[in-house]
Amino acid sequence: MTESEKTELRKALIGQQQHVLADVNRHSKKTGSGVIADETERADKIAENMVEHQLGFSESKLLEKIEYALDQLDHGTYGICDDCQQEINIERLKAKPSVSLCITCQTAKEQAS
Ligand SMILES: [Zn+2]
Repeated sequence: MTESEKTELRKALIGQQQHVLADVNRHSKKTGSGVIADETERADKIAENMVEHQLGFSESKLLEKIEYALDQLDHGTYGICDDCQQEINIERLKAKPSVSLCITCQTAKEQAS
């Protein structure tokens, strides 16, 4: 993976994270808690606090995956399959930057469940 690909994927992940958090904010305004995540630094904490109470299961899972992927980007381990430790196809990452399994392991997992 090149540096420019990493930058591109980081941007995609942060964009996705902000999109999910914007949904959370809309929801929280409706319910009256009124928390606004305007900085990425605060986003993590807000996500932590809200995940169990206000987010749907799929949204909280997605946020977890995004945070995990961003963490891996920081540590240089991004793009490695969690199961088989092989590099995940770059086109797959571009299509869905929060994935942590290669297509082979993902398919196997889906068939198993
Ligand atoms: Zn794999």
